Amino acid sequence: LALIVKKFGGTSLGDLDHVRNAAERVREARASGERVAVVVSAMAGVTDQLLKTCAGEGLGPDGFERDSVAATGEQAAAGVFALVLQGLGIPARSWLGWQVPIVTTDTPGEARIVKVETKSLEAALARGEVPVVAGFQGVSEGGRITTLGRGGSDITAVALAAALKARRCDIYTDVPGIYTADPNLVPGARQLAAISYREILALAATGAKVMHSRAVALGLEYGVKIEVRTSYEARPGTMIVAEKDLTEPKPVSGIACSEQEAKISVQGVADEPGTVAGLFRPLAEAGISVDMIVQDVAGKNAPADVTFTVHKKDLARALSLLKAAKKSVGFRALEADDKVVKVSVVGLGMAGRPGVAQKMFDALGAKHINIQAISASDIKISVLIAEHHKAEAVRALHAAYGLGRA
Ligand code: ADP
Ligand code: ASP
Ligand code: MG
Repeated sequence: LALIVKKFGGTSLGDLDHVRNAAERVREARASGERVAVVVSAMAGVTDQLLKTCAGEGLGPDGFERDSVAATGEQAAAGVFALVLQGLGIPARSWLGWQVPIVTTDTPGEARIVKVETKSLEAALARGEVPVVAGFQGVSEGGRITTLGRGGSDITAVALAAALKARRCDIYTDVPGIYTADPNLVPGARQLAAISYREILALAATGAKVMHSRAVALGLEYGVKIEVRTSYEARPGTMIVAEKDLTEPKPVSGIACSEQEAKISVQGVADEPGTVAGLFRPLAEAGISVDMIVQDVAGKNAPADVTFTVHKKDLARALSLLKAAKKSVGFRALEADDKVVKVSVVGLGMAGRPGVAQKMFDALGAKHINIQAISASDIKISVLIAEHHKAEAVRALHAAYGLGRA
């Protein structure tokens, strides 16, 4: 029998009725002759609530303890899902990360999966059971409970599908599939029948929350077939496919938006060899990644302004490191702005096709939206704009590239 891994997100498990509905998708698959392994997220809102408790005033900073609290959301969801399946007469049991085990690095809050031990799950499947695996969690090499980062149940699902050599991994969420843009932001967004791994990877890495980017990267690495679909009804979703299986790569196939970045401008930097290296060295040494970078020079020998973005969570640390390096680097002033968003357009067909970037700049210019920084790769162009222009910018770009049309 072929195996399918089915992952249900928090919104698909909001209450018992939702869980019953999700379980129906499992029953249908079994009725059509498939074996099924389930991966669950916590019920909607539960992880937020648990992490909020851990952030309470006066609590210690231990990441492993925070993870053992955060991981309980998936424990409860897995148990409830197994009970619902049993109620339908389907043999099922819950599996926590440490019971499988799903072994991870010792990095709480952002653990990486090192190994998925498949022996006990394979035995359960061979007995005709449905294993219901708690997503988002694992057990570290040092024996502690860990979590994989927000949205990490997608990673559990794809890792499990790879380890169990599943025929497909279904990611069930609250929208019918992958859209040309977040359908909750762009009313005219259109569902895609198929998208390449590289495109959804670029979209996920630049803010499209529909799948975790590391889950897509794993899928690409291990050749896992992934379908993103809704649990609310039995209808086809969006297949993630190899590039050779796409009929015609589009210059732009989707738009994503990220609020995770903050902008730092370092003004009056000497325009000499080595100063930019001196500026970024303390950040690199502190493990802070820098994303978009722009350097403006007013004229020959004039001082330069260097603008770049860092993750919002690193902003305060980056600013204090730069202040400390002011004398040695030599700059005039430092400015920060965290009211910015990065909007990215992604498409396999943009490489070698002129005018794709120009269309982006024209569309934003026509709406009087100022571009504060630009970065590009072979299949992606990103711009940084003021936060309050977010919806208007994404909608304008969606229209400019004709993404609402099939
Ligand atoms: P789950 O709880 O199922 O993991 P998420 O909230 O993590 O669900 O992801 C689903 C959400 O992703 C959708 O509700 C939608 O708002 C958002 N989203 C962002 N970009 C896209 C896109 N291109 N296509 C579909 N959904 C998207
Ligand atoms: N429950 C976890 C979260 O909210 C993991 C997930 O939903 O995938 O981040
Ligand atoms: Mg998610």
